[in-house]
Amino acid sequence: MQKFTFECSTCGKNYHESEVRYLCPECNEINTSYLPPKGVLKTIYGYRKNQFPGSYSLSESVMQFKELKKFQYIDILPINNASSLPKLKVGETPLYLIEQIVGVKLSVNLYFKDDSQNPTYSFKDRASALVSAYAKEKGFDTIVAASTGNAGSSLAGICASQSQNAIILVPESAPLAKLTQIIMYGAKLIPVKGTYDDAFDLSVQASAQFGWYNRNTAFNPLTIEGKKTVSFELFEQLGYKLPNRIFVPTGDGVILSGVYKGFEDLLKYGIIDKIPIVVAVQSSGSDNLVRNISNPEFQSIKSDTLADSISVDIPRNFYMAQQYLQIYNGEMLTVTDEEILSASAQLSKNTGLFAEPASAAAFAGFLSYNRHHKLEENSVNVVLLTGSGLKDLKSVTQMINMPKSIEPTLENLGKRIKDNH
Ligand SMILES: *Cc1c(COP(=O)(O)O)cnc(C)c1O
Repeated sequence: MQKFTFECSTCGKNYHESEVRYLCPECNEINTSYLPPKGVLKTIYGYRKNQFPGSYSLSESVMQFKELKKFQYIDILPINNASSLPKLKVGETPLYLIEQIVGVKLSVNLYFKDDSQNPTYSFKDRASALVSAYAKEKGFDTIVAASTGNAGSSLAGICASQSQNAIILVPESAPLAKLTQIIMYGAKLIPVKGTYDDAFDLSVQASAQFGWYNRNTAFNPLTIEGKKTVSFELFEQLGYKLPNRIFVPTGDGVILSGVYKGFEDLLKYGIIDKIPIVVAVQSSGSDNLVRNISNPEFQSIKSDTLADSISVDIPRNFYMAQQYLQIYNGEMLTVTDEEILSASAQLSKNTGLFAEPASAAAFAGFLSYNRHHKLEENSVNVVLLTGSGLKDLKSVTQMINMPKSIEPTLENLGKRIKDNH
């Protein structure tokens, strides 16, 4: 019996696992590089214990969930053995409840899900781990990815832990820390003249030509499946309850779809009876996903934002993200680079969590909501922190002053402390 099938998110056609690996062959037209691809595949399980939503009592749902968790969710993952996953600890990241921001007590509950605590310091490890496990089970020893930074550094690290080869094609402009990670993890780093899209196309050709497994975001449907585990963790960490809102930093829309897919799996399993509100947060300098949501024709505007991880001209999972946001009444907003930097500083100072600009954008989204009183009192809000601040120091150094050194005397020290106040 097959455990799962792939369903085309565009035409709805169902494929046996062995029939298709990446996009739906019928919907993926060639030469559409300037438009988001159609035919991204959704992974559908038997949901063997299928019940109708809400048909379990609360304690039965919790029991069902614990049963799933006991076997590392293997019933709703597209691999055969949890032992194929890397030994590094991916996921199971902390969830912190924050009581106050800048001394102001919040009238809502604010949680941070800190995915910078993944092995390569970003949310991308959730996807890389599953792609790597699948490759292991299918006998691929080389995985290729086009990446602007985090997906590449993540794949490089995960492959290093699994004795697999990683080949990472990057556009020339990725942040230095992420490139350094790729090299330190022993992957082949290939900078490509041109844009992310050029690197993407080359990686797809290379997979076909050299037989490498391809991890490109959304192109490989397992990237969505890997990312969905965050929703399982949230449900558990919130005491088997759903949050009111989840603020998700959004570029290609794969994390967003992953969050939805996780809850949708639980819904289909009968464990939960509704889907929480997901808020897609984009940078106003790169808002190609939210700006096009209701447009009859997709129009890309060239990105200009310091949040490099969500700087995306052609969102690779646009259509699936659009479907999810429309079906489940998702919300959207944009934040400026100034708001992102200010949110980043507030986050670090108030919580000790140092996030890269893309993650700080999600918090900026929360702050914007809170300022406009759009959050119900006592509502439960989660902000996804998707990457570590150490990955991109350059963008924050523009707002800090590195202090000059002093002569080592008490007098000078006292004076310096006084001057700073
Ligand atoms: C990739 C990434 C995102 C955005 O995810 P998408 O799936 O492209 O929407 C957000 N934050 C960080 C740190 C990332 O690396």
